[in-house]
Amino acid sequence: MRYSEMLIPTLRQEPADAQVVSHKLMVRAGYIRKVAAGIYNYLPLGWRVLRKVEQIVREEMNRAGAQELLMPAVQPAELWTESGRWQQYGAELLRLKDRKGGDFCIGPTHEEVVTALVRDEVKSYRQVPLSLYQIQTKFRDEIRPRFGLMRGREFIMKDAYSFDLDEAGAQLTYDKMYAAYERIFNRCGLAFRPVEADTGAIGGNRSHEFQVLADTGEDAIVTCGGCGYAANVELAEIQASEGAPMAASGPHEKVLTPDTKTIEDVSNFLGVPPSQVIKAVLFLVDDQPVVALCRGDHDVNEVKLKRALNATDARLLEDAEVQSHLKAPAGFVGPIGLPTDTKIVADHALSGLSEMVCGANETDHHLVQVTVGKDFDAQFADLRTAQGGDACGRCGTAFESRRGIEVGHVFFLGEKYSRAMGAEVLDESGKNVPLVMGCYGIGIGRTAAAAIEQNHDDSGIKWPMPIAPFQVTLLSLGKDDALLEASQKVYEDLTAAGLEVLWDERNERPGVKFKDADLLGIPLRLTLGKRGLENGVLELKNRHDLDADALSIPLGEAVEAVTAKVQEMLGA
Ligand code: ATP
Ligand code: MG
Repeated sequence: MRYSEMLIPTLRQEPADAQVVSHKLMVRAGYIRKVAAGIYNYLPLGWRVLRKVEQIVREEMNRAGAQELLMPAVQPAELWTESGRWQQYGAELLRLKDRKGGDFCIGPTHEEVVTALVRDEVKSYRQVPLSLYQIQTKFRDEIRPRFGLMRGREFIMKDAYSFDLDEAGAQLTYDKMYAAYERIFNRCGLAFRPVEADTGAIGGNRSHEFQVLADTGEDAIVTCGGCGYAANVELAEIQASEGAPMAASGPHEKVLTPDTKTIEDVSNFLGVPPSQVIKAVLFLVDDQPVVALCRGDHDVNEVKLKRALNATDARLLEDAEVQSHLKAPAGFVGPIGLPTDTKIVADHALSGLSEMVCGANETDHHLVQVTVGKDFDAQFADLRTAQGGDACGRCGTAFESRRGIEVGHVFFLGEKYSRAMGAEVLDESGKNVPLVMGCYGIGIGRTAAAAIEQNHDDSGIKWPMPIAPFQVTLLSLGKDDALLEASQKVYEDLTAAGLEVLWDERNERPGVKFKDADLLGIPLRLTLGKRGLENGVLELKNRHDLDADALSIPLGEAVEAVTAKVQEMLGA
């Protein structure tokens, strides 16, 4: 393409509403423009990148045996009522009415539609395993749309759904999809980690998020250098610490601690470190009041609490509810003297500790010299949110803490939707059995944004070759006819050889062209200037390594040289 004919509205200024670098650069380099909060125009360059990501995803889905189809964006409420999600799904679901008053939504995901399709069309065990996928626009009315394409409201997702006759088959399909995801993100040139993720009510450990490592990521994860285990901090298994030897502390005593509402207040008031204060939080877990305890410098994690109690639902109680249940305000809750219907669960790190401080279940009072295990009993469990330095639950090595961008998610669904919606087939013995499902998502725009988070410098984007909008940009430095004619010949030769070329033939100063080229981030840059023309050579540079000397390429060898470089950078 000729630069002058393309819509590439670059900006020198950073957009005021952009916080992360991918958002800033996508706007500045003319890849996207905002239409409304979390809703974007994908401009020609941006669309080329998204199409590249899509194509990689498509090829790998096909290779994994999944079939592409396209389901509607607008979905009838009836299907969502069948699955129970019309009621459950919160405000993220954009609901609307048609002219006859019928209820619809704009699909945030397609389990209902695809399960209904398979229920109606697939009847025999001979027709499975079956995996279907689409690449399509989703809508989720996110509370906080931000970071450009990273968390939009309207965004493009690849969503795949698998249907198997039994668990074992579904596990094989899951593994195949997992492998496909590894290939996809490798091919996109990303540094990523698959991490174990929460499976919610479904249980088991068959849910993995594919996290691109980046400091700006919204997700906190821990990784283990010892055994390779990686998980979201919400569920990373932490090794139970050896109970510290119990010091012979005296009987606990009640002390006045006025207005000490937080762990920090208490620790300052009594002059003890937060780790010596017991944090006590009241939850309602499957209708049972539960006080969850951890050290003051740790956090109780709801996901782990649910797992520890094998529960489906856990809810933090509001201050007023705490007051009415315990007759004490939230800041003064402790494990001693609780109503008998209240269960106590404590994080492993509290095991055997003495000389501790805890709430007295009485306004403005705490207990001191508390010994865990002596002054109160509790069920011990892995309850706390993992941090860097915690011991890996698999091998004991200290975790490293990382931040990640979740670009993909593979999830074992089991029979949740097939049972609710009656997606059954006849098995070999002629019995009706519900299909065992999996679902697998990839954010196309988020993947492109994540690639920028990992590949940029102060001047702009450095696209990995496989998802770059063009493979090479050709800058003509000068406007005389001979130079433009020679450039055009190079441009046509490269294009004819199947290379993707953006030819900057604008009537602009070299400085402007170099600046824009750096910003746009096309991986290879060819320049032809007056002196080069006299000597019959082009200069070739790599956007990923601008400090390296340019290669001099004879005009007649541009196709060969660029093709070789592109192949190398595609990892072909
Ligand atoms: P998150 O926790 O970030 O909200 P999610 O768990 O809701 O993600 P899934 O329902 O698993 O996401 O969706 C599959 C994929 O779709 C995600 O891995 C992500 O890449 C992408 N995705 C989800 N929400 C958005 C969004 N608001 N904007 C862009 N991409 C998104
Ligand atoms: Mg979400």
